[in-house]
Amino acid sequence: MNSQSLTPQELDRLRGMQSSLAELHGVASDSPLLQQLASIDRKLWETLTTERRYAPGEFVFREGEAGDAMYLIWSGRVVVVKGDLECPTILGYRGPGQIVGEMAILENRPRVASIIAVEESRLLRIGREGFQELLQNAPIIGMSIMGMLSARLRESSIMRQVNNQAGRQLMRQVTELQTEKQQLLELQRVRQETSDLIIHDLRNPLGVINGAISMLRMVLPVETLGDNRELLDMAESAAGRMQRLVESLLDVAAMEAGEVQMNFAPVRLQSLAAAVGNRTALQMRMSGITFCADVPEDVPPVQADEEKIDRVLTNLMDNAIKYTPNEGRITLAGRVEGEQVVVSVTDTGPGIPPQERERIFERFAQVAGDKPRRRGFGLGLTFCKLTVQAHGGRIWVEAGDGGVGSRFAFTLPVAEAA
Ligand code: ADP
Repeated sequence: MNSQSLTPQELDRLRGMQSSLAELHGVASDSPLLQQLASIDRKLWETLTTERRYAPGEFVFREGEAGDAMYLIWSGRVVVVKGDLECPTILGYRGPGQIVGEMAILENRPRVASIIAVEESRLLRIGREGFQELLQNAPIIGMSIMGMLSARLRESSIMRQVNNQAGRQLMRQVTELQTEKQQLLELQRVRQETSDLIIHDLRNPLGVINGAISMLRMVLPVETLGDNRELLDMAESAAGRMQRLVESLLDVAAMEAGEVQMNFAPVRLQSLAAAVGNRTALQMRMSGITFCADVPEDVPPVQADEEKIDRVLTNLMDNAIKYTPNEGRITLAGRVEGEQVVVSVTDTGPGIPPQERERIFERFAQVAGDKPRRRGFGLGLTFCKLTVQAHGGRIWVEAGDGGVGSRFAFTLPVAEAA
C-alpha cells in the first residue's frame, strides 16, 4: 500500500461512516452530462481527457495539494473528505456522472478537500486547458458542467444558511446555560454560607454542654456520680465527637476560603516525625503495631507551617492506626527528591482501591464497606490536601510496599539555606 492510498483500517473506518449511498448507485449512462459526452467527437474527447483507474482506498488527490484538473466520475464511487484521516469529516460522496475537483479549473488554489475512491472507480481527468478547449468546441458540455457547478454553489449557500441558523440557536442555548450556571453557583454559595454559619453557631452551645458535663462531674455527690457515670460518659463522648466535627468543618471551610494564616519557616522533619511518633506511640503499642520513623539525618529542613504539617502527619498517622491490623507496621519516612522532600506514611492495612484514590481526598468521602477501628467524618484527608496545596505541594495515595496496605505521600519544598 503506497502513501497515495489509505490503510485497510482507514478505508474500513471511512466505509463505516457511509450513511446513505443508495442515491449514488446510478450508472454512467443515467447522467445527462455523460449522455452529452457520448454525442461529441470521440477524437476530441480522447485528446482532452485522460482515463484513470483507482482501487478502493486510493487518493484521487489530497487536501492542500496544488490542483490543475477536475475529474468526471465514469464509474465507481468516491468520498470527499476534509481534515485528519484519524477523525475525518465526510463532506459527501460522488458517483457516476458527477464531477470532483472542479474548483481547480476556476481558481488556482490548493485543494480544499481530499478525494478517495471507496470502490473500484474509473475517472476521466480534464485539465484546465482541456476544459477551455471543450468549452470552445462543445459549448453544450461546458454549459452542462457550469449547471452542475451552479447547483453545487446553491447547495452550499443553503447549507451556510442552515449552519448560521443552527449557530444562532446554539449561541442562545449557550447563553441560557451560562445564566443557569451562574444561578446555580450563587445558590451553592448561599447554601455554603448558611451551613458555615450554622456550624459556627454550633460551637458555643457545644462548649456549654461540655462545660456543664465537667461541672456535673465536679459538683455531683460521689454516689450520684457513680450511679450516673455511664450516662455522663456517653454525653461527653457524643458532645466531643460533635465538637471535633464542627472544628474540622470550620478548618476545611477556612482553608478553602484562603482565610488561614500560614506561618512558613524552616522545619526539621526528623524532630516532627519523632514528636508525632511519640504522641501516637501508646495507641500503636496497644494495637501491637510496630512503628518506624525513617527520616535520614541528611534530609534538609522544609519550608513549612510546623503546626499545620504536624496536624497533617497526625491525621495520616491516625488513619494508618485506624486501619492497620494488630501486629501490623507503620512507617513514617522522608526522602529528598530534587528541590522537594517527599514525606510518606505507609501502613499494612487493607489499602485503598485504585478507583477511590482521588475521591477520598474530597469532603466526606469514605471507602464504602471499610472497617476502621473508629469511624471518622471523611474530612481529615480534605484538610491534609488543602494544607499541602497551600504549601505548593501535592498529596496522593498509592499501594504500600509489595502492594500491601497504603502509602500516603506528600511533597514539601526544601527550605532555602539562610
Ligand atoms: P475519616 O475521618 O473517615 O478517616 P479521612 O478523610 O481521613 O476521613 O479519610 C477518608 C477515607 O479514606 C476513610 O474513611 C477511609 O475510607 C479511607 N482511608 C484513609 N486512610 C486510610 C488508610 N490508611 N487505610 C485505608 N483506608 C483509608
